[in-house]
Amino acid sequence: MNLDLESYIKEIENILRQKDKNIKSWDDIYPSFISLSKKNASLIKINNMEEDIKKILSYVKPLGILDTERKNKRLKGLKDAVLKLKEKYLVDSFEESVSKYSLFTDIKYVKNVGTKRASYLKKLGIENIYDAIYFPPRDYEDRRKISKIISLEDGYKYFVLGKIVNFQENKINKGLTIYSYAVEDDTGVMEVTFFNQNYVKSYFKIGVTAAFFGKVENNFGKKQMKAPEFQIINNINEIEAKIMPVYPLTYGVSQAVMRKITQNILLHDTNYQEYLPKFFLDKFNILNLKKRIKGLHFPKSFYHKNRALSSLKFDEAFLFEVAILSAKKQFENNIKGFPKQFEGTLSSKFMSSLSFVLTDSQKNCYEEIKNDMKDPKPMNRLLQGDVGSGKTVVSELAIIDNYEAGFQSSIMVPTSVLAKQQYKKIKNHMDPLGIKVEILLGETSNKEKDEIKEKLSNGDIDIIIGTHAIIQEDVTFKNLGFVVIDEQHRFGVNQRLDLISKGFSPDILVMTATPIPRTLALTLYGDLDVSTIREMPKGRKSIKTVLTTDGKSNKIYEFIEKELKKNNQAFFIYPLVEESEKIDLKNATDMYKSLKNVFPDYNIGLLHGKMKPEEKTEIMDKFVSKEFNVLVSTTVVEVGVDIPDATVMVIEHPDRFGLSQLHQLRGRVGRSNKQAYCFLVVNGNLNQDTKDRLLDFSNTLDGFEVSNIDLKWRGPGKFFGTLQHGLPDFKFLDIINDLEIIDEVKREVDNLLEKDLDMSKINKEIKRRYKNNIDLIKAF
Ligand code: ADP
Ligand code: MG
Repeated sequence: MNLDLESYIKEIENILRQKDKNIKSWDDIYPSFISLSKKNASLIKINNMEEDIKKILSYVKPLGILDTERKNKRLKGLKDAVLKLKEKYLVDSFEESVSKYSLFTDIKYVKNVGTKRASYLKKLGIENIYDAIYFPPRDYEDRRKISKIISLEDGYKYFVLGKIVNFQENKINKGLTIYSYAVEDDTGVMEVTFFNQNYVKSYFKIGVTAAFFGKVENNFGKKQMKAPEFQIINNINEIEAKIMPVYPLTYGVSQAVMRKITQNILLHDTNYQEYLPKFFLDKFNILNLKKRIKGLHFPKSFYHKNRALSSLKFDEAFLFEVAILSAKKQFENNIKGFPKQFEGTLSSKFMSSLSFVLTDSQKNCYEEIKNDMKDPKPMNRLLQGDVGSGKTVVSELAIIDNYEAGFQSSIMVPTSVLAKQQYKKIKNHMDPLGIKVEILLGETSNKEKDEIKEKLSNGDIDIIIGTHAIIQEDVTFKNLGFVVIDEQHRFGVNQRLDLISKGFSPDILVMTATPIPRTLALTLYGDLDVSTIREMPKGRKSIKTVLTTDGKSNKIYEFIEKELKKNNQAFFIYPLVEESEKIDLKNATDMYKSLKNVFPDYNIGLLHGKMKPEEKTEIMDKFVSKEFNVLVSTTVVEVGVDIPDATVMVIEHPDRFGLSQLHQLRGRVGRSNKQAYCFLVVNGNLNQDTKDRLLDFSNTLDGFEVSNIDLKWRGPGKFFGTLQHGLPDFKFLDIINDLEIIDEVKREVDNLLEKDLDMSKINKEIKRRYKNNIDLIKAF
C-alpha cells in the first residue's frame, strides 16, 4: 500500500537527513539502509523497486576513508536517487484517453451529473469540465490504512472496516432522531451515529459490511464516530484505500458525488494538453499537467499532493504574469507618450512662496517625477508617504510644471469632503500663478457640470479636482497631461482602466499613505515605479497614542478641556451615525448631544455620511475656521483632511476599525508643530488578540509598520478586500506567502516575452483561466 511505501521512503530520507548534518562518518549508514530494505523486502517486491533500491545501496557502500569532496558527491548522488524514487513511486498521473468532450463541455453531460446537479454545481462555480478540473479540495483524508477498532484513539480520524451488528433508533424529540449502529471487526466494536439522516437506514442492514471514515470520540467508554463518511462494501476489492479529496460542498451535491464527478473527468473526459513551456517545468521542478491535476484530486501520496499544489502555484503565477506583462507590453506599444518641456519658472515661484522648505525626501520624489514627465514614456508612479508627510505639495509642483508645459491636470480624490478641501487649498495656491482650477463632483448641478465640461474641452480650465465623477461623466479634455489619484487605496485598477479606455495616456501619479510592500505593488500594478517620502517635515511632534477604556472618559475629558483652552481642537470618532438595534455601539449623533454637556463652553459640530453634501462642507468649513472647537464624526473625516490646530483625536470602539483606517484617522492630528494625542477608547471586554493588535498599533507611528501589522492580523484576504485591487481570485497562490514564487516567475516571464516565442498554447490557457477577468487583465 502507498502508505507503507511513503513511510518507507520517509525513513530513507531520515537517514539521509542525519547524514547531511554529519558527513564525517559515512560508512555507518550502509547497515541502516540494509536493515531498512530487509524490513521492507515484500514492499520492494510488490512495487518492483529492486533495481532502484540496488542503486541507492550502491551509493552507500562502505568505501573506507573518503575525502569530504567525494563524500559530498556521493551524498548528492544519493539524494538525487531518492528524489527519483519519490517521483517514480509516489507520484502518478491520469491516463491519456480518447475524450468524449471538450474542456468546455457543460458539466451536466459528465457521468453522474445531469441537469439538476449541474444547477447545484453552478453554485460552486463549476459550469464545465475545466472548472471541475481546477476545483481545489479543501482538505484530504488519509484512507490508505484500515485501522482495527481496538487501536482507535480518542480525537483522531480513522478509516475502519466493519460489519453492522446492531441498530437502534431513538426519537429524542420532534426535531431530533438519532440512528446508532454497532459496527464490529475482529478486534472490537464501535458505535456509529447519524442525526436525522433517515436515509442511512436504507443502506445499513444487520450483516452489511461498510467502510467508515471519521473522527473517533469517547462516548462514556464507547468508541464512537458521529456522522462519518461511509461506503457499503460488497466485495473487499471495492475498498478505496486511497488519499481522498474533501471538497467544499453545496446543497444537492454530496462528498461522494463530488468525488465521483472528478474521478470520471480524470478517467474519461479529459483531452487536456500541457501548455507550460518545458524550460519552465524543468527550472522550477514542476509536475507535468497530468501529474499535477491527478495530484490535486487523487494524489498517490502526500508527497504527490504537496508537489501538485506547489506546481499549481507556479502554473497559476506563470499564467497570471504572462497575462499582465504581455498586456502591459501591448499597451505600452500602442500609446504615444509625449515628453514635456518646461523650465520650472512657475514652480520655483510657487516654492519660494511657501512658508516652509521641502524635506530632502520631498525634493527627491519631485525630481523623480520631473524626470518621468520629461521622458516620452507616460509616467506610472506611486508616491507613498505617511500621513502628513507632505505629498500634496509635491503633486502641486508637478502639476504646475505640467501646466507650464501646456497641459491640463486632473486630481481625483475619494470623497467630496476631501475634494472640496483640496480645491480650496489648491485654488489658493494656483490663483497667484494664473492657473485656473475647478471642481467637479457627483453633486454638482447639471448646469454647472455642462459649463465645466465645456471649459475642459476647450482648455479654459487647467486643473480639475473631483471624485471619480471626473471619469464617470462624459468629460473630454483639450489636452490632459497629468493625473493625480490621491489616496490610492480607495481607487483600484478599474479607475485606471476607465481612464485608459477614454483614450488618455497622461502621466499618472498615484498617492497613498497606506504603503504596500514593493514586491506586492509590482505584482498588483505591473511595473509601477515607486517614490517614497521617508521623513516627516521638521519640527513635527510625534503623536502620543494611548489605549484606554471608557471607564476613564472623565480623565480624557479633563485633558481635552485643557487642550481646548490652549485654542486647540479635538476630534471624536464613532463607528455609527446613529443608534442601531443590531449592534450596541456608541454613535456620533447621541455622543454629539452628550459631549455638548461635557464641554458647555465650547462649540461642537457633528459630521457624518448621511448628511447632505452642502451640510458636510459647511460643518467642515466651520471646523477649519475654528468656529467649532470639537468635531464629532464618523469616518468621513478619514482621509486627507488637514486641520493644523487639531491636537486630540479620540476614537471610540477602535476595534471596529482596520489598523490602516485607524492610522489615517490618527493622522488627522499632529499636522503642525504642536504635540498631538490619540486616545483609543475601548468599551467592554476585548479578546486578547484584538488588544494585542491595538497595542502593536499604539506603539508605532510608522505607516509601513502599521500596514504590516494589519496584514499580519487580518490576513491578506480582508486586507486586500478593501483595496479593490482587481486581481483575479487565485486558487492556489497566497498573495502574501507566495510572493517569492510570484517574483521569481515574473522574472522568468519578463525574459520569455523578450524572446518573441510562439505563445499560442499559453494564451489559449490564459483565456480559459481568466474568462471573467480578462478586462481587468487588460488594465495593466
Ligand atoms: P499628506 O502627505 O498626508 O497628504 P499633506 O500634503 O496634506 O500631507 O501635508 C500635511 C501638512 O504639512 C500640510 O499642511 C502641508 O502644508 C505641510 N507640509 C508639507 N510639506 C512640508 C514641509 N516640508 N515642512 C513643513 N510643513 C510641510
Ligand atoms: Mg494627502
